[in-house]
Amino acid sequence: MKILVLNCGSSSVKYKLIESENGNVLAEGGVEKIGLPDSFLKFKRPDGSKETITVSMPDHKEAVKNVLKILTDPKEGVIKSFDEIHAVGHRVVHGMEKFNKSVLITPEVIGKVKECYPVAPLHNPANITGIEAITDLIPGVPQVAVFDTAFHQTMPAKAFMYALPYEDYEKYGVRRYGFHGTSHRYVSRRACEFLGVPYEQQRIITCHIGNGGSITAIKDGISVDTSMGLTPTEGLMMGTRVGDVDPGALTYLMKCEGLDADGLGNVINKKSGVLGISGISSDMRDIEDAIAAGNERAKLAMDMYEYRILKYIGAYTAVLGGADIIVFTAGVGENSPELREAVCEKLAYMGITLDKEANRSRGKEVVISGADSKVKVVVIPTDEELVIAQDTAMIVGGK
Ligand code: ADP
Repeated sequence: MKILVLNCGSSSVKYKLIESENGNVLAEGGVEKIGLPDSFLKFKRPDGSKETITVSMPDHKEAVKNVLKILTDPKEGVIKSFDEIHAVGHRVVHGMEKFNKSVLITPEVIGKVKECYPVAPLHNPANITGIEAITDLIPGVPQVAVFDTAFHQTMPAKAFMYALPYEDYEKYGVRRYGFHGTSHRYVSRRACEFLGVPYEQQRIITCHIGNGGSITAIKDGISVDTSMGLTPTEGLMMGTRVGDVDPGALTYLMKCEGLDADGLGNVINKKSGVLGISGISSDMRDIEDAIAAGNERAKLAMDMYEYRILKYIGAYTAVLGGADIIVFTAGVGENSPELREAVCEKLAYMGITLDKEANRSRGKEVVISGADSKVKVVVIPTDEELVIAQDTAMIVGGK
């Protein structure tokens, strides 16, 4: 089955056309700067070469129209007509308590995704525009929603509740939901396949360390705790997000700077984290370069970044009563041997040893712990689009 996977952000659309039976990626690309005059479509050809076309795309419908156009283009396309697209799978960011698994999109599902707008005001409306664009452009094609939050719906109340007044949970759904669920689900399961151990009998800590980052504790195949919360701002220190912070510090800052909710939201989401501390960049490659050049604040940013990861691994080891497997994934987790080494060497107390040679590899499935290590440490490149394609194919009734 050819499945079109769409990931619609507030000003971007990423796509992949995937053959669900074997995971082959037939086409991939994206649209950026939707709504701006210099919006563009970029795509990768089967030979690996890349192309960028500047087209004015005022909204998501126009962006999706251009994606479909390039997929069926006589020269650049990989399909002859839309009929070849069996189904469309959408990444949907927030499902609150309404969705604990991927679902076929119906008018009722769309209504429920819209009910989640207040807690995901930037993400969910963009996801819905993508769904509506497909409904208009390929009427009748089945569509499936795959939620970032769904995998974490198994967390027990003691892990997902905030100690705020209980009524705030009842009235507004204020609780922890967690994100990157599709990635945590994929890499934890894949790690077990790779290691040849049964998924349902492991204590796994998955570290999704990218521009955004979260760590999840998985017991016997079920998410029991995760570092992100009501929104993706809680937990680890991230590229530009603050992660854990004293809520009292935030109300104090609001008073000092005369900030309203949007102003504070801007500080904690866009101006904090690695960028806020280093004053240089949110990208860990720039931070590594700056450290090599002797920049003190870049060093502090890296130290804080690693320290938070270490603390969450410690916390989740306690939650799980020990750990069998630790997984590193996403941009930094897959590509930074330095970060993995810095974290793992401080986990010697868990009986972890590192195979420094194996740890040199980037972006490949590999066991990086030593043969004598009490905990297996592995790198598993994440593949959220593959999971979306597979869930979609399964739900629409194929394989
Ligand atoms: P997103 O959360 O946007 O999906 P990714 O998982 O793609 O993020 O991760 C992007 C981040 O990965 C970049 O900001 C960069 O810091 C980091 N990264 C990518 N390659 C490397 C590398 N070779 N070394 C260190 N960090 C890297």
